[in-house]
Amino acid sequence: MTKPQTKVESFQLDHTAVKAPYVRLITVETGNKGDKISNFDLRLVQPNENAIPTAGLHTIEHLLAGLLRDRMDGIIDCSPFGCRTGFHLITWGEHSTTEVAKALKSSLEQIANDIKWEDVPGTDIKSCGNYRDHSLFSAKEWSKKILSEGISDDPFQRNVI
Ligand SMILES: [Zn+2]
Repeated sequence: MTKPQTKVESFQLDHTAVKAPYVRLITVETGNKGDKISNFDLRLVQPNENAIPTAGLHTIEHLLAGLLRDRMDGIIDCSPFGCRTGFHLITWGEHSTTEVAKALKSSLEQIANDIKWEDVPGTDIKSCGNYRDHSLFSAKEWSKKILSEGISDDPFQRNVI
């Protein structure tokens, strides 16, 4: 095999057709024993028009790890896209995009308004793989921008929650 043979849904999405910020359900997978796992696209900025700089994105990542778990059950992982326009959210079970969008909005509000540097987890050499590359200032400013635009629970039309 010379190239990847599996078509991945994320690369089938027309990234020029979406209207960020939004939450999109990518897929629900069912395991052999019936357990379900959901994969969401948490798109914070418009693809090919914006990208969150790595330090701010990194700090948002560390904060969402706890803030989303405070607000939703069943979270497995929330990791940034390589294009730096948002995050994958993987969960046990099924959740509506409205529920996820509300949890994301509330988490970004806490980052923008309440979080202090000492509240950011994993900012030293023992607890992070690139601890020098954090910016709470950037995380707060990008959170404010995303919130000012509103988070839609539909990727193709603005249905701000
Ligand atoms: Zn880190």
